[in-house]
Amino acid sequence: MRLILLGAPGAGKGTVAKMLTQIDGSVQISTGDILRAAVKEGTELGKEAQGYMERGELVPDSLIMGIMEERLQQDDCQKGFLLDGFPRTIPQAEELEKLLEKLNITLDGVVNLNVPREVILDRLTTRRTCEDCGAIYNVKSNPPKVEGVCDKCGGKVVQRADETEEAISKRLDVFNEQTAPLVGFYEEKGNLWDINATSSDEVVRIIKEKLGLS
Ligand code: AMP
Repeated sequence: MRLILLGAPGAGKGTVAKMLTQIDGSVQISTGDILRAAVKEGTELGKEAQGYMERGELVPDSLIMGIMEERLQQDDCQKGFLLDGFPRTIPQAEELEKLLEKLNITLDGVVNLNVPREVILDRLTTRRTCEDCGAIYNVKSNPPKVEGVCDKCGGKVVQRADETEEAISKRLDVFNEQTAPLVGFYEEKGNLWDINATSSDEVVRIIKEKLGLS
């Protein structure tokens, strides 16, 4: 499957993407995960991106498009991909259209994960992430078996640097201003699936149904 997952921070894009990869071997492409890995490794990309990320701002489109052009041409994308956290602005969506055309790739759809703001805030403040493999936990509903240690890889489970109250509030403002207009952009193109995303299991069920996989 080839899908874009749209939705506010905390809407469950990463969780749904991970569940979908189990179905047909499609890969999750999370620009946030790629950037966090670059920051951790201290690469040039990481150094450029770090400040924006910690402030909860978007990294410049030019950096993101370079990452995506390279990533979409890697072999593991042949089976399909789930774009998680990209595109994030109208210019990124326009550039993506050109890139997909150039690579001769067609999307199956664009999924908009709709979640009430109170649920988003609660999820973001209680979310914890493995620094090494990106596995997602929640201190209330899904804690790791051993506090601070990833069940899957033994890595360190932490609160992300951009999940302080101040950065969360900034990220939600940035989402409303710069990313939410993508819903109208894809609605006009007629390939938007608007899904109530309070339950990730239910989102996956609906996506499978739409793709004729259930
Ligand atoms: P995420 O893990 O998707 O919430 O992304 C974490 C942070 O990485 C965002 O707050 C941005 O600073 C940056 N980021 C991730 N994806 C993008 C993107 N497509 N465009 C610009 N910045 C991004």
